[in-house]
Amino acid sequence: MATLLITGGAGFLGSHLTAHYLSMGHRVLCVDNFLTGTRANLAEYVSNDRLEVIEHDVTLPFSRAGDVDVIVHLASPASPPDYLRLPIETLGAGSLGTFHLLDAAVSAGARFVMASTSEVYGDPAVHPQPESYWGNVNPIGPRSVYDEAKRFSEALTAAYRRHRGADAGIVRIFNCFGPKMRGDDGRAVPTFIRQALAGEPLTVAGDGSQTRSLCYVDDIVEGIVRFTESGDGGPVNLGNPEEVSMLELAEEIIAITGSASSVEFVERPPDDPERRLPDIALARNELGWEPKVTRADGLARVIEWFRDHPEVV
Ligand code: NAD
Repeated sequence: MATLLITGGAGFLGSHLTAHYLSMGHRVLCVDNFLTGTRANLAEYVSNDRLEVIEHDVTLPFSRAGDVDVIVHLASPASPPDYLRLPIETLGAGSLGTFHLLDAAVSAGARFVMASTSEVYGDPAVHPQPESYWGNVNPIGPRSVYDEAKRFSEALTAAYRRHRGADAGIVRIFNCFGPKMRGDDGRAVPTFIRQALAGEPLTVAGDGSQTRSLCYVDDIVEGIVRFTESGDGGPVNLGNPEEVSMLELAEEIIAITGSASSVEFVERPPDDPERRLPDIALARNELGWEPKVTRADGLARVIEWFRDHPEVV
C-alpha cells in the first residue's frame, strides 16, 4: 500500500484520482482549501479509513508529507472564469505551492507529478501540439495568470529534477471532462449540458469554429497513474487527439439530451485559443497510453450524471 498526497483532491480531477487510488487499496491524503473544489466531491469516500482530507492552502509550507510516496500537485483554479476571478490565488498555487510541494517531495523522497496544462502552448501556431513546441503565450494578458503559473511550475519541476535530485515529472493535460464538473465553472461541456437540460440557448463563443479536444476523465486518470509509475520527467501530453469545434459540440449535446434548445452566438473572450489538439505520440510510446472512451460515450455519461444531480445544474 502506497501513500499518495493529492493536492486539489476535492476538485473535479482530484476527486476522480482519489477514487482511483482508494479503489487500488492505497492511502490518500487529500489536501485542499476548497477554493474551487467541495467536500461533496469526496463525500462518497470519507467513510474509507484510508482517506484523510486535510484543509490546507498549498501556498503555505506543508509539514505532513513525511511518509508520503507520491505527491500529485493538482491544486489550482483551473477553469477560465475561476482563474480570471482568482488571479493572485492562481499565481500563488502555481508558484509558492509548487515550491513547497517540491520541497516536501525531496524531503520525503517521494515521486512528484506536476499537473500542467495545454494552456502552456497558449494560442498555438503549430498543430497538433507536440511537447517540443514552446508555445505562444501572452505573458501579461488576462489568461497569463494561469498559463504563466503553469509554465513557472514546469520550470521549477524541471530544475528540481536537474539540481535537487527530485523524482519529479510533468504531465500536460488537455481539456478533460466528466462527472463532478461544476455546472457554472464556465467550461464548454458543463455549460452546454446545463443550458441544454434547462432548455436555455447554448452560448457558443464567436462563430463556434474554434476547436478543442476533449478527453474523458477516466482516461486522464489512467494517464496520470501510468506517468506517476513511469518515473519519467516529461513533459508528456495527455489528451484526446480528436478535434471538435465548439459549434459541433453544442449540436452534439443538444442531440444527446434531446433538448429543444437553440444555439446563441456570444462574444469571444480575449486570447481564446483557436485550436487545441494534442500530439500524443510520446504518451503512446512511453506510457502505452491512449484514450479509450469516445466523446459520444463520455458525453452520455456526463449528461446522465448531471440529470442525477440537478443540484449541480
Ligand atoms: P478544480 O477547480 O475542480 O480543482 C482544483 C482544486 O484545487 C480545487 O479543489 C481547489 O479547491 C483546489 N485549490 C485551489 N487552490 C488551492 C490552494 N491554494 N491550496 C489548496 N487547494 C487549492 O479543477 P480541475 O479541473 O480538477 O483541475 C485540477 C488540476 O488539473 C489543475 O491544476 C488544472 O490546472 C489541471 N488541469 C485540468 C484540466 C481539465 O480539463 N480539468 C486540464 C488541464 C489541466
